[in-house]
Amino acid sequence: MPTDPLPGAGKVFLVGAGPGDPELLTRKGARILAAADTVVYDHLVGDGVLDFVPAAAERIYVGKESGRHELPQEQINRVLIERARAGRCVVRLKGGDPFVFGRGGEEILDLARAGVPFEVVPGITAASAASTYAGIPLTQRGTVRACTLVSGHLADGDVDLDWFALARPGQTIVVYMGVASIGIVCERLIAHGLHSSTPAVAVRNASTATQRTVAGTLADLPQRIARAGLAPPALVIIGEVVRLRDRFEWFGR
Ligand code: SAH
Repeated sequence: MPTDPLPGAGKVFLVGAGPGDPELLTRKGARILAAADTVVYDHLVGDGVLDFVPAAAERIYVGKESGRHELPQEQINRVLIERARAGRCVVRLKGGDPFVFGRGGEEILDLARAGVPFEVVPGITAASAASTYAGIPLTQRGTVRACTLVSGHLADGDVDLDWFALARPGQTIVVYMGVASIGIVCERLIAHGLHSSTPAVAVRNASTATQRTVAGTLADLPQRIARAGLAPPALVIIGEVVRLRDRFEWFGR
């Protein structure tokens, strides 16, 4: 299996950069980055991760803070295809894991259509990082047997999720892109049957020196987040497992 970048053969590597701490990048990701001719990256990629990129490589920042896209998706896809066709080793570096709310699928679809060879390297997704670094197991044998990852992204001022399914007990809910919509999410979960005292926590910049957590319940987390001025990128974890944080929190201690 030739998974090494071959000199002179154009290919796109979709690489998960992990949550921020460069030590949480895979060895495979680091090896491919070190062989890159072009690196296309977004704002969630930790600074230290870019240190693996050779000085001579072309670096293209494509932004993507919520609601602010420096480069539209079609243009990103075009850049990837053009550079690969020119024989370059192209790395599309994405925060976390490319296949978890990372639009990895959209980019690959265009690469596949264009007949450009590609590989995908997984990364540690924000749910793993935020739960680990906040001291919250996402599952707990005997009580919490499911964990659901959802997008809290607001579309037309609303969040379209299966609230009845999410309000079922015995699961952990992890909300990506959920800072702006946290009020709606908590209100709907309560309206569909989750107790308002269900513990919930928001974790910002998980795994980095600037990590910050705001904890509360479904009833008060939105106000607490607002009062703390917590801005994206933050992940919200909801469920009984959040209680374990009191005993399990280790990071920054
Ligand atoms: N592909 C990424 C997710 C991209 S969506 C991954 O697998 O992690 C962007 C959202 O991810 C942010 O709005 C935030 O909810 C979450 N996120 C990414 N990095 C984070 C971090 N270091 N700390 C907390 N949340 C993070």
